[in-house]
Amino acid sequence: MWPSIIGHSRQIAELKRAVEFARVPNAYIFSGPRGIGKRRVADAFTAALFCAEARSRGMAPCGECASCRKLAGGNHPDRFTIEPEESERGAVQSIKIDPLRELQASLQFKPLEAPAKVAVIDGADRMMDAAANSLLKILEEPPERTHFILITPFPQRLLPTIRSRCRHIAFSPIPDAELAAEIARQREIPEREAVRIARLAGGSMGTAMALDPELVEGVLGRFIALTKKASSADIFETAQAWKDLDPGKILLVFDLLASFYRDLLRVQAVGGESELIHPEAAAMALSCPAEHALRCLSEIDATRLAAETSANKQLMFEQLLFTLSRQ
Ligand SMILES: [Zn+2]
Repeated sequence: MWPSIIGHSRQIAELKRAVEFARVPNAYIFSGPRGIGKRRVADAFTAALFCAEARSRGMAPCGECASCRKLAGGNHPDRFTIEPEESERGAVQSIKIDPLRELQASLQFKPLEAPAKVAVIDGADRMMDAAANSLLKILEEPPERTHFILITPFPQRLLPTIRSRCRHIAFSPIPDAELAAEIARQREIPEREAVRIARLAGGSMGTAMALDPELVEGVLGRFIALTKKASSADIFETAQAWKDLDPGKILLVFDLLASFYRDLLRVQAVGGESELIHPEAAAMALSCPAEHALRCLSEIDATRLAAETSANKQLMFEQLLFTLSRQ
């Protein structure tokens, strides 16, 4: 609920006030980058609206009553959720008109248990035209005691006529320091590692929690050691360790290496050591010529592309590491 959400205090304060003064608009847009907690805020807001105890607890839902438990279990009859579905070919995700029609039918009736109904449309920019028009019709004559929350990273892709009927709340990435403190606490890792994860995640708690700190530190440790002193045996051994990683983790290896060289070039160009993802890049910037760093970056990009098809990942990583370890 609210206390478990990191950041977004201004947005949460506005939502709590709306509940407190019973002035909740018919529809909200929650916009902002993926993974920063918009859906969690929508869930906590719904709970605050539904929970009979919330009013006596500073608009904080109790988490224990039947309403709170049903919401947490995903089976509250007055909360509706619509999300994009995969197409038959599995690639494009969109929201078709059917779920909107079903929603419209359900909204004809009064709330069953809660004082209001809440319909969350997560990924609202993925509504097909027919679905968007159907939503617009609902919003033009909003059913009583019903609130919509449209969640999207791209609010500009919504119909202007939908946007104009919504109260827009914009969410920003969580500041590094705040995110790092939370990661250090939850993951039980040193602050130095947590700051790296927070910056890699670009202010997204969701992305940060999906990163494996041990893998991140392991990859960077090996890489930095190789740039200092690399024998062919070291290169062979590192390539062997990386080639067996899952495809997603192999992509992370490329991201880490590329972000390291970008940091290095940034220090050489403009300084700003305090904002680096990888503080170690500052030391290497003193000895690594910019030309070499640029060559490494393009080699990392080329290898990333090759990795999708390469049959021999061992050789692929060996070649890359050979280039990176030469200065
Ligand atoms: Zn409750």
